[in-house]
Amino acid sequence: MLLGAIEAGGTKFVCGIGGENGEIYERVSFPTTKPEETMKQVVSFFNQKKIEAIGIGSFGPIDLTKTSDTYGYITSTPKPYWENFNLVGEVKKHFSVPIGFDTDVNGAALGESKWGAAKGLDSCLYITVGTGIGVGAVVEGKLLHGLLHPEMGHILIRKHPEDYFGGSCPYHLDCLEGTAAGPAIEKRWGNKGVELSNDKRVWELESYYLAQAIVNYILILSPKKVILGGGVMKQEQLFPLIRKEVIKLLNGYIQSKDILEGINSYIVPPGLGDNAGLAGALALAHNSLIESDSLELKHD
Ligand code: ADP
Ligand code: ZN
Repeated sequence: MLLGAIEAGGTKFVCGIGGENGEIYERVSFPTTKPEETMKQVVSFFNQKKIEAIGIGSFGPIDLTKTSDTYGYITSTPKPYWENFNLVGEVKKHFSVPIGFDTDVNGAALGESKWGAAKGLDSCLYITVGTGIGVGAVVEGKLLHGLLHPEMGHILIRKHPEDYFGGSCPYHLDCLEGTAAGPAIEKRWGNKGVELSNDKRVWELESYYLAQAIVNYILILSPKKVILGGGVMKQEQLFPLIRKEVIKLLNGYIQSKDILEGINSYIVPPGLGDNAGLAGALALAHNSLIESDSLELKHD
């Protein structure tokens, strides 16, 4: 069985062909320019390929309400040309197969729960710390949605008393994303994260913020696994710092062995590695196929 996957990002669209066990056979990447341009390349990649479903994990915000007139649209993005773009509609025009659609991070959470670090668990969080901060969640075996979809990257956090950086979120200044995403690190310290590997202060402050966020997520959603990916998490020294700070902040309140004794395998990098995003879109394709099969059964 062949499935199509589209990881729609603000910088690039990664497209791939894979199978129902999360294996990826082929991948290509196109720059995110104008919708007509980018989508033409996406469509021509999938043309002639015998795919049975397509999954799209997209940057957002996006409309996920199936009954809405703008279901499948990218909605209020500041990304030029992409505001109110009918992404699912465009794919549907060219391919008459089931189409799965969700946020990029929800896709990644689903992929990790099917095939990666949270395999066999009915809940997990996938947090990406990159150009922005996004969080996807599987709760009781299902992707978490709501009014729109959770935007856990923009939560409010306590400022470190010695951090004088005002924050870089255009909406909230010093929300989590405005304080701890890649661009915030660069603005605060005057250098890209990758250049700051050896500066201990940078990663201690970074883990101070990420741990607060994770503690809030643990208290609210009680995930069985917390997975951290994205460019900034390439700084592997963050993992032990974050784990230590999470334990400190929880202060014994959550009496779970997974946290108290097993934190090293509770807060982890993606099991699917750099494929987490694309495999996430593949997982969305897989789910849409399963759903359409069960709908057909009901109709028979
Ligand atoms: P995106 O979020 O755009 O999909 P990434 O996850 O690669 O892409 O995130 C890009 C951000 O992560 C940039 O701000 C960049 O400076 C930062 N980043 C990328 N690689 C590293 C690294 N090795 N160490 C620290 N920061 C990094
Ligand atoms: Zn914000």
